[in-house]
Amino acid sequence: MWGRTLTKGKLFERGIIDNPICVLCNAAAETACHLFVSCPFVQLVWDALIGHLDRATTVLQPAEPRSILSAWPDINTRGIGEDIWRVLPYSVLWVLWTARNEIVFCQGTFDLRGIIKRIKCMIWAWLDINSQRRNLKKDHQVTELLQGWELVIRDQW
Ligand SMILES: [Zn+2]
Repeated sequence: MWGRTLTKGKLFERGIIDNPICVLCNAAAETACHLFVSCPFVQLVWDALIGHLDRATTVLQPAEPRSILSAWPDINTRGIGEDIWRVLPYSVLWVLWTARNEIVFCQGTFDLRGIIKRIKCMIWAWLDINSQRRNLKKDHQVTELLQGWELVIRDQW
């Protein structure tokens, strides 16, 4: 999927658009690596979600979306935090792509708090896809993700 993401960098290469610049930072070409990992605005998103973990920097070391997904580590926690952690990178990439498209096509603006909230709510919704995870949700509320994220996503037994 990532090889086929139609970033501005790709469209520029094909001569479809004449400006490949990232719409978030307006400072670098919008490649998949930039848009999903290295853009300073996107770094704020990742930092808000995993910055409290000791291994935050190693998690993003692959620097390429596809590798981040394939190399996403397990987390040393149990219960719902473990499931949220597994779904997290997919939700981040999905919401970033959606937010980017709203900026490109709908005059949207970069809203960090809104993006973080959407990522957490999307994870909450996606937990329903798996019946085991759906069961786990019964004892929890989405507000735990919205207000107590660092308590839910802990990297220790
Ligand atoms: Zn950027």
